Amino acid sequence: MTSHVTPLSGAAAPAVLGGMTPRTLPQTVPPARPTPTVGAARSRAHGPTAALWHAVELHRPTSEVDGACELTLCGSLARVAVGESWPPASRDVCPACLVLTAR
Ligand SMILES: [Zn+2]
Repeated sequence: MTSHVTPLSGAAAPAVLGGMTPRTLPQTVPPARPTPTVGAARSRAHGPTAALWHAVELHRPTSEVDGACELTLCGSLARVAVGESWPPASRDVCPACLVLTAR
């Protein structure tokens, strides 16, 4: 006679608690947009409006924007003067651009 004893080996393994998947932490995104350099640009005189110095955001190297007409912060067009820094020392500075760059 052969008593076939099946060993009771099927001990229920403890359920694996939902495979610990390493959670990818949100990476701190470095500032993609560097603070644009603000340069000075000289607008042309329009009738009663005298030529003023405006502020322009320089997204390109100054060698590329020298003398180029750029949209100023206040919304007008002015010719970039790379040699001039913002705010210019002169008094004929666009008040709107001054306010916009004061932030
Ligand atoms: Zn302006």
